[in-house]
Amino acid sequence: MKPSKRLDRIPPYAFAQLERKIADKRAAGVDVISLGIGDPDRPTPPLIVEAMQEAVTEAETHQYPSNRGRPEFREAVGDFYERRFDVDLDPDSEIIPAIGAKEAIFNLNLAFLDPGDYALAADPGYPVYTGGPWLAGAEPVLMALEPEHGFVPDLGAIDEEVARRAKLMFLNYPNNPTGAVVPDGFFARVVEFARAYEILVVHDNAYSEIVFDGYEAPSFLATPGAKDVGIEVFSLSKGYNMTGWRCAVVVGNADALHTYWQLKTNIDSGLFEAVQLAGVAALSPDADSEVASMNELYRRRRDLVCEALEKIGIRIRPPRGTIYVWAPIPDGFESSAAYAEHVLERAGVVISPGSIYGPAGEGWFRISLTTPDERLLEAVQRLGNLAA
Ligand SMILES: *Cc1c(COP(=O)(O)O)cnc(C)c1O
Repeated sequence: MKPSKRLDRIPPYAFAQLERKIADKRAAGVDVISLGIGDPDRPTPPLIVEAMQEAVTEAETHQYPSNRGRPEFREAVGDFYERRFDVDLDPDSEIIPAIGAKEAIFNLNLAFLDPGDYALAADPGYPVYTGGPWLAGAEPVLMALEPEHGFVPDLGAIDEEVARRAKLMFLNYPNNPTGAVVPDGFFARVVEFARAYEILVVHDNAYSEIVFDGYEAPSFLATPGAKDVGIEVFSLSKGYNMTGWRCAVVVGNADALHTYWQLKTNIDSGLFEAVQLAGVAALSPDADSEVASMNELYRRRRDLVCEALEKIGIRIRPPRGTIYVWAPIPDGFESSAAYAEHVLERAGVVISPGSIYGPAGEGWFRISLTTPDERLLEAVQRLGNLAA
């Protein structure tokens, strides 16, 4: 059997080596605590589960869904965008359900890229921003997110020729893995850039609902002109503890959504309607208190982690959003991978080396806040003791 050449372009799964080491440690009796993966540990809120239970007993949800989505779901997304972001969406042309943000981001590459085209991808960033273009036969071009620019790309540094050949730009705020929130004025500069070079902006909005210290994350689409040049992928996975449900939505520019829909009808058969009805419950104001209490939990965990890092001499500004703490590796380690290995060896704690999110992540590491409190506390104590 010979895999396609397409697959040859995909680098080996970054976590594979680490996973093998964790398995070896566990087999040797070490109590390994993983702070690596970003997958909420708390269950989906009861009002969402109950809405699903009710919906699944309705025979009308059992057939193929329409790829356009149930009217109630599209209405609920429209109401949510209005209430939350002050963004007006037309439910008929500007909203399409997706089987998770990952599906949407990948398929957008197939829908818009030809061989030779470029896609501008945030580095460090979600792996599909590079895997998607590669699998579509196109080329990802990395835009480094540097701390001195507030972890946004320097649009002025993008080569003219590259900008002209680029058809997509992937951005994500609040940001995974850096935890950064978007600086004032940046989205407006993105709109201008995208207009000048005719680029479709794909804003990956996976974390707008996970915010702290009074910060409110905007939608990209709230920027004047954004709907002319962009779309936003809004995922319910992280904010509503629904990673297993595969529930997301793509909103914004109607022509771009039509193209995505055209591709998608050839690939999948839509989002289970019972999940769409559960999504209606998640997006209703009734779920706001659930989101608020999750945020309180993550804020507490964030503070625990930041305090422990300070003890080992790593001082960072606590992130105002996401489920991640992003920090520079301590002096004396030659790479993120070397530091992650050291922490695993000496403390039995798994952290993500920043380099797995792209070359600009080298020198950094990511801690996920999705580990139950007492395990997280144990892990940060072990990290603190490493310094002693
Ligand atoms: C988790 C994550 C996703 C995936 O979301 P799904 O809706 O579960 O597919 C997409 N983008 C970013 C930045 C993420 O962190």
